Amino acid sequence: MNEKIILFGGTFDPIHKGHIEVAQSALEKIGAGKIILIPARRSPHKNKQPVAADIDRIAMLQLAVNSNKAFQISNIELNRAEPSYTIDTIHQLREKFGDDCDFYWLIGADMLKDLPLWHKINDLLDECNICVMNRGGYEKPDFNSLRRKLSPEKTEKLRQNMIETPLIEINSTEIRQRLFNEQDVSQFLHPDVLDYIKRRKLYIAKD
Ligand code: ATP
Repeated sequence: MNEKIILFGGTFDPIHKGHIEVAQSALEKIGAGKIILIPARRSPHKNKQPVAADIDRIAMLQLAVNSNKAFQISNIELNRAEPSYTIDTIHQLREKFGDDCDFYWLIGADMLKDLPLWHKINDLLDECNICVMNRGGYEKPDFNSLRRKLSPEKTEKLRQNMIETPLIEINSTEIRQRLFNEQDVSQFLHPDVLDYIKRRKLYIAKD
């Protein structure tokens, strides 16, 4: 049987307990032994840019998953030239791991609406399993809404690959805002990540 490898891309600005808990649940539900976290690069073409530097986002990822052997971190997207597309990441990882593995690419329910717009989405859906996860604070994924943008087969594959992860209402935007306002964020973050943020004075007003 092919090895199952989970891929989890994101801005991780910063990584929070929501990311970790759904990733852990996906590992169990998919029955994979490995999950690779893939921080997204800064893109001059996107309006939403990470606030923290790449080096800090990587350091926080390392601290958050340090004790968990199933988790790995890849700088594959940080090191690649623009434009950076998920399909390119899949191709690079296919080269690295060979044909005897199946890739599972995780996305939260909030991402489903824009998924049909992803670069070469039909190839991507053929070359890996895109797994939509529940996300606290968002509606349950509505696969019927994709029908006009994707073929019935692709829509059905997405529906079949959906993972019933726990509903956790945490997002990085709120964490950054709370840090900026000097409010407590300890329930949302791994303690070592919070410690790093404080030491490096991330997400606060710069004078
Ligand atoms: P921001 O608030 O800055 O947009 P975020 O909390 O959405 O950040 P990202 O790093 O952008 O975090 O998310 C990476 C991936 O993780 C996305 O697919 C997103 O949908 C998913 N994700 C993030 N938080 C959760 C959560 N609490 N539950 C389920 N999925 C999540």
